[in-house]
Amino acid sequence: MNTLLIRNGRVIDGTGAPPRAESVLIEGEKIVALGADADARAQGRTNVGVLDAKGMTVMPGLIDGHCHLSFDEPNSNDELFNHRRHALAAIAAAYNAKKLVRAGVTGILDPDSIFELSIDLRDAIDAGLCEGPRVRTGSYALWTSLGGTAGRLIPDHGIAGYGKVVSGRDEIVAETRRQIKMGADWIKIHVTGLVPRHPLGGEQKSWTLDELKAVCDTAHELGIPVQGHCRGAASVIDCVKAGMDLILHATYMDEHALELVIDRKVPVMPVFTFQANLADYGAAIGADATVREMFRLEISDNAAMLRRAYDAGVPLLCGSESGFSITPYGDWHHREMEVFVRDLGLTPLQAIQCATQANAFAMRAVGKLGEIAPGRLADILVVDGDPSRDISVLGQKERIKHVFIGGRAMDLSPLPPRKDPTGWRVVNYGARLGWDVAHGKAEVAHERIPDHEL
Ligand SMILES: [Zn+2]
Repeated sequence: MNTLLIRNGRVIDGTGAPPRAESVLIEGEKIVALGADADARAQGRTNVGVLDAKGMTVMPGLIDGHCHLSFDEPNSNDELFNHRRHALAAIAAAYNAKKLVRAGVTGILDPDSIFELSIDLRDAIDAGLCEGPRVRTGSYALWTSLGGTAGRLIPDHGIAGYGKVVSGRDEIVAETRRQIKMGADWIKIHVTGLVPRHPLGGEQKSWTLDELKAVCDTAHELGIPVQGHCRGAASVIDCVKAGMDLILHATYMDEHALELVIDRKVPVMPVFTFQANLADYGAAIGADATVREMFRLEISDNAAMLRRAYDAGVPLLCGSESGFSITPYGDWHHREMEVFVRDLGLTPLQAIQCATQANAFAMRAVGKLGEIAPGRLADILVVDGDPSRDISVLGQKERIKHVFIGGRAMDLSPLPPRKDPTGWRVVNYGARLGWDVAHGKAEVAHERIPDHEL
């Protein structure tokens, strides 16, 4: 059995406890001992490998609770829905999975995928056919015919992109069962969506309580949890009442919604990274100032409410929305922790707990993953620096020195460069070229609001 002693490191165990200087002993796929016990058990043995982690931090590998591994960084739903091909998308996803490992990610929850291919990708990684983090995944997100966050791009029936429209109780139950038969670890529902020209604006609840219950009851009967994309109080309230296991976003809650979430301690995953990236860095890619401000407000308007939930004991989970052009693979998996520190006022250690120990829930592996503790699977990140002082060191790839998944050292060597397969990207000509713009009499107007999933 492969045995490794990691010595001299600063151990952040993922529970929120302060760092400790101690050894970690790995045997096979598990952590078996810490501290003096680890040193004693390794003493005198000739078959123990030693890794000197002086000056470095030894911590649980990052778990990204919301990563769209099948999307390959589209910049619109049009590209994602209409320009992807099944086999190529799977091959691209296998390539991108390696980028995640190089960023210190050892586990992801992929909520939904095009061609429901993340189910097969998970099985391929498990079988050793390709390298990547541990994957837990949904199948197609469930929509009603009212649609979700892609407006009129969502058809009245059938599949589009990463989602499937279901109508009526029988179809809802049958599709939930079909996804579970196919091997989905989670069921995902788009509980709210954009309804063009709706008088109230914003996202509207597109499911009834009875419909949500039909999904939750069917899935729970078979031991499968359900997560729901929710923006707005009414959707959060119905999700809690329906018995949903994880609430995504949970923005714009009112006092009643917050009370219910706190009462049932339903885990919440805000997934603010996409908004934070556009708000903070959008100018660099020409994003419109109005859109950037809209996304900035979504974070600042909701930070206090989410913090109250956290303080009342609601598990807060980290998910990065990686997989879009705004959130490319390998670059932003740490970013949600930065937002939790900056906007929700968590300490770096608390934010790390949200991305490790707490996120084991997303992996359906509570007590098995996300901690440096004897008996846990040895999914470990060794990073140069101290993320308990500065969380941003986790975003600096050159500092990611060693990554272990199940005790196995992962290959962190640079990936060969890739290009996009032909026909893969939607090319646009640029902004609208009016005569006045061409002749310097008016500014270029960037007024398009992205139609992405979020
Ligand atoms: Zn998403």
